[in-house]
Amino acid sequence: MARYTGPVCKLCRREGMKLYLKGERCFKDKCAFEKKGYPPGQHGQMRKKISDYGLQLREKQKVKRIYGVLERQFRRYFDRATRMQGITGENLLQLLERRLDNVVYRSGFARSRKEARQLIRHNHFLVNGRKVNIPSFLCKEGDVVEVKEKSRDIAAIKESVETAEGRGLPEWISLDKTNFKATVNRLPVRSDINYDVQEHLIVELYSK
Ligand code: SF4
Repeated sequence: MARYTGPVCKLCRREGMKLYLKGERCFKDKCAFEKKGYPPGQHGQMRKKISDYGLQLREKQKVKRIYGVLERQFRRYFDRATRMQGITGENLLQLLERRLDNVVYRSGFARSRKEARQLIRHNHFLVNGRKVNIPSFLCKEGDVVEVKEKSRDIAAIKESVETAEGRGLPEWISLDKTNFKATVNRLPVRSDINYDVQEHLIVELYSK
C-alpha cells in the first residue's frame, strides 16, 4: 500500500490549516502550525497571488492529505462520485468519510487516521463480527465496527477511547465505550464534515 512518509506538519503549513495528522500533538502547544502558520520553505513567508488553478489544486491536495489518500486512489473516488446520484463534491466527501480508517478515527478508537490505518492493518478490528484489515473498506449504514476483544488492552486504543468525547464524536456514529463498539447510524452528509473545504473546486479541477 503506497503512502506518504514525509514530514506531516509541513502539509498543514502548506495547506494553511490544521489537518490533525498527528493525534494528541495537534491539540497541544507543540503543534507546528500554531508556531509557524505560514507555508514551509525559504519563500514561505512571501505573499503570493494564487491563480484559480492554484486554488483548485490546493483544495484537492488538502482533502487528499486529510484522508491520507494518494492521487490514483483519490481519482478513483472522484470517478465513483460522478457516477452517484446527487452533488459530485458531496458524494466525494461522503465516500472518503465512509472509509474504515476514517470511521475508526471518528469513533475515537485512534487519535489520527494514520494510527487508525496501522491498527486496522494489524487486524485489531471487526466489522459486523468479521475481521477486516483493509483501511479503504467502505462502511455502510448499520455497520458495527468493534475492537477485537484481545486488542482492547492496547494502550493506544484505550487512551484514545478515553479521550474520544473531548475530540468530538460525529452525529452519524454512536460509540459504546464499554464494549469498544461503534455503529454507523446513517451515512454522513455534508453538514457532518466540519473542516473548511470547498469541494466544488476539486470538481472544477477534475472537470477540465
Ligand atoms: Fe498539523 Fe497536527 Fe502537526 Fe499541528 S501537530 S501541524 S495539526 S499535523
